[in-house]
Amino acid sequence: MDFKIETKCVQSGYTPKNGEPRVIPIVQSTTYKYESSDQMGRLFDLEESGYFYTRLQNPTNDYVAAKIAELEGGVGAMLTSSGQAASFYSVFNICSAGDHVVAASAIYGGTFNLFNVTMRKLGIDFTFVKPDASEEELNAAFQENTKAVFAETISNPSLVVLDIEKYARVAHAHGVPLIVDNTFPTPINCRPFEFGADIVTHSTTKYMDGHATSVGGVIVDSGNFDWTQNDKFPGLTTPDDSYHGIVYTERFGKAAYITKCTSQLMRDLGSIQSPHNAFLLNVGLETLHLRMERHCSNALAVAKFLKSSDKIEQVDYPGLEGDKYYDLAQKYMPNGTCGVISLRIKGGRADAVRFMDSLKLAAIVTHVADCRTCCLHPASATHRQLSAQELEDCGVYENLVRLSVGIENVDDIIADLAQALENV
Ligand SMILES: *Cc1c(COP(=O)(O)O)cnc(C)c1O
Repeated sequence: MDFKIETKCVQSGYTPKNGEPRVIPIVQSTTYKYESSDQMGRLFDLEESGYFYTRLQNPTNDYVAAKIAELEGGVGAMLTSSGQAASFYSVFNICSAGDHVVAASAIYGGTFNLFNVTMRKLGIDFTFVKPDASEEELNAAFQENTKAVFAETISNPSLVVLDIEKYARVAHAHGVPLIVDNTFPTPINCRPFEFGADIVTHSTTKYMDGHATSVGGVIVDSGNFDWTQNDKFPGLTTPDDSYHGIVYTERFGKAAYITKCTSQLMRDLGSIQSPHNAFLLNVGLETLHLRMERHCSNALAVAKFLKSSDKIEQVDYPGLEGDKYYDLAQKYMPNGTCGVISLRIKGGRADAVRFMDSLKLAAIVTHVADCRTCCLHPASATHRQLSAQELEDCGVYENLVRLSVGIENVDDIIADLAQALENV
């Protein structure tokens, strides 16, 4: 049966057999027992599937990954220890020294640092393009050695909505996949594979977990990209020496990318999500559909309130009519966007900080997208390492506050904002 997404949130990924635990068990074991060395050998050769060491795979993680794969409509998924690990693996799985990636400049600050500093040290080069770049501008960013395009569905914190079809069209014209970080809308509000994206990543730390209990990430493979169409992806289409010459595309077909990610990168780099965190993530997923609905309705009411205040210079919320990205949001996520709002206080950095310090319900935290309303001043926190020019390029102004609207009663949230604005 093909269930609707709300049902998948609750039920997918784990189906207990007769007498087995109703709830996903936490398999808190690093290792798995076998009757013969020969059988274990076949697992190491990827001849049979099965568990042998939790650094590569764990049943708890796999149940939860299977649920997320179903939510996104992909062929497989792999949980990682953080969203950062997911972003890194998603690119490193198909790029090595000498390769190049086109990335939208409006992305999470941590991802920007990862790409712009750390991955450059590995010899992987990046060209950052304005998220609203025209097709010509996008085309101009490609090089002979370009292997992927990376962008966020709704960018954190600048709330740019990606024109997924345009990015996919350009990526595919150059024979490379589009990787989309879908953390903010979640698959409840947007499923990028339906618009041509090939790989989806998430920081599950945010809405998916939803309760701010566990850091985690996930990579989902659509199974749609043909890695054999050109010779750009030898890691997938030629023998892997570290696995007795396996050719991933030949052996695993549509699941080639995600299988290589697990069996090679996770084996070698080891950023597995702990089974306990995967369990907590699943508890979050079971109510994701309900929470996203409330996050979005609360955020829309808050955005309307802020828009009407004379203390506010600008409100960015793609779900708000009149927002620069409203039309794109209507196209790609008609049921809602996310709970995050960007606002610019009239005045400068000091006014933004005073506003935030006056809030009573909304806490100042380095977090976003959990059930409690919270806020952050990106210029002094997540984006602190960026230069003034880089800040402006990714849309993070000094008077910008990122407000993550929770699932409390919206009247209480608005009352708190109203009293804090009195102090500005
Ligand atoms: C938080 C975040 C990340 C990084 O995830 P972590 O779980 O903190 O490592 C990546 N992308 C987006 C859009 C995020 O919001």
